[in-house]
Amino acid sequence: MRVECEVCVVGGGPAGMMLGYLLARAGVDVVVLEKHEDFFRDFRGDTIHPSTLALLGQLGLREEFLQLPHSEVRTLDAVVNRTRIHVIDFGRLPPPDDLLVFMPQWYFLDFLRQKAEAFPNFRLLMGAEATGLQRDISGTGESRVVGVTAGRAVPGSDVDTAEAIEVWAGLTVAADGRASVLRAAAGLVPREFGVGIDVLWFSLPKPAVAPKPTLLYVDQGSFVLTIDRRDHYQAGQLIPKGDFERVKTAGLDSFRRQLARTARPLAPVVGHLTDWNQVKLLSVQISRLETWHRPGLLFIGDAAHAMSPAFGVGVNYAIQDAVATANALVTTLRAGGGAAVTSAQLAAVQRRRLPPVRAMQALQRGLHAVIAKPDAAPLLADPPTRRQAVALDLVVPLLRRIAPRLIGRGFRPESVGEALLDAFTDRTGRAQTR
Ligand SMILES: Cc1cc2nc3c(=O)[nH]c(=O)nc-3n(C[C@H](O)[C@H](O)[C@H](O)COP(=O)(O)OP(=O)(O)OC[C@H]3O[C@@H](n4cnc5c(N)ncnc54)[C@H](O)[C@@H]3O)c2cc1C
Repeated sequence: MRVECEVCVVGGGPAGMMLGYLLARAGVDVVVLEKHEDFFRDFRGDTIHPSTLALLGQLGLREEFLQLPHSEVRTLDAVVNRTRIHVIDFGRLPPPDDLLVFMPQWYFLDFLRQKAEAFPNFRLLMGAEATGLQRDISGTGESRVVGVTAGRAVPGSDVDTAEAIEVWAGLTVAADGRASVLRAAAGLVPREFGVGIDVLWFSLPKPAVAPKPTLLYVDQGSFVLTIDRRDHYQAGQLIPKGDFERVKTAGLDSFRRQLARTARPLAPVVGHLTDWNQVKLLSVQISRLETWHRPGLLFIGDAAHAMSPAFGVGVNYAIQDAVATANALVTTLRAGGGAAVTSAQLAAVQRRRLPPVRAMQALQRGLHAVIAKPDAAPLLADPPTRRQAVALDLVVPLLRRIAPRLIGRGFRPESVGEALLDAFTDRTGRAQTR
């Protein structure tokens, strides 16, 4: 199969789907390749921060988006050795984007798909896995990426064959996540920042007496996250990196006991975990490419900079990359297509996004340095000592003031540029304006 387009986006995650939607809406001929057949993958980043809500508002999608199943929180609490600390209050941000939305990622991605498919110039190839880059060598010897090679399993075929796909594109955007195949194909190796933790994710029913909304329970160096999924929790236990086998050897009973000790309100429901198959290991990583581009090729999202789950901002930084990319390139793409995009323009996207990414990754690494010490002394005594109580009184109000901006809006939040908000035409041929 041969596909021609102006822009080929590889990866239908938050970065790729948002970029696909924005470019399609701006009238650019765009193809998105996603290796999975659907978006249904659990234990993905589920947080939609105020910065992303603001973007959806600008795009006129906010109200419809909020019709999808989700839960909303304005405040986030942590319980540290039985002391409840009210750390974040998004209600301090200007309305209406003064809240955090928890939504299973597949709803969000499917929503972007539906919106993008309203435009005739948008194509999404599901089950299509990019395997390599296509290059064109000019007379001057300069090599430019001009698309990708991909494979797609043939539906209904009982033999393990894949249909070969050649995508020819003026510009290729790699949004294929932290294990990016295109990054390897381009010969780029990200710098890894050592991270000392992994996360074990699992679902737990809510106890009959639901505890107060709590994001994090901390007890003697053990950390449990609970993300409210309305009828159940998506829960995570932090473990030292590479320790899953040791945790398994210690047995489920020991795991359940540690959970119940750390997050006491969950004690009545930990018995729901009866098999290690219910527990999924997600390896945590922080990494960053030094250069996010090659002629004809740009890396965004986790493919350019893998984010840790700390502060739950990875999805939002991926979305911001997509918006910055579309803002920077849309005028050129409309006028001259993907081939007209220069390396200087791709470098400008990196220049814009690198400082906020670098700053957030530094914060994440700082947090990891504090939490990745399983044998460290408890962060707080139970009850807090007088000195700790005084420190809490000083630090927590400050945190409450800074955190909504730092985490909710992030460093240098993007907004959708005028060129992207122009009139557009959907599949019905109707001219639309916001
Ligand atoms: C344990 C853990 C928990 C996290 N929790 C949160 C959270 O709560 N909130 C948050 O905001 N962030 C969280 N993050 C970070 C967040 O998941 C990422 O930063 C974010 O998903 C990056 O988006 P992306 O679109 O760049 O990449 P991805 O979400 O990784 O999407 C990449 C897409 O590309 C597809 N793909 C990959 N290779 C190919 C190929 N060769 N061809 C075609 N398609 C391909 C993949 O199937 C995938 O759909 C978490 C990360 C971890 C590890």
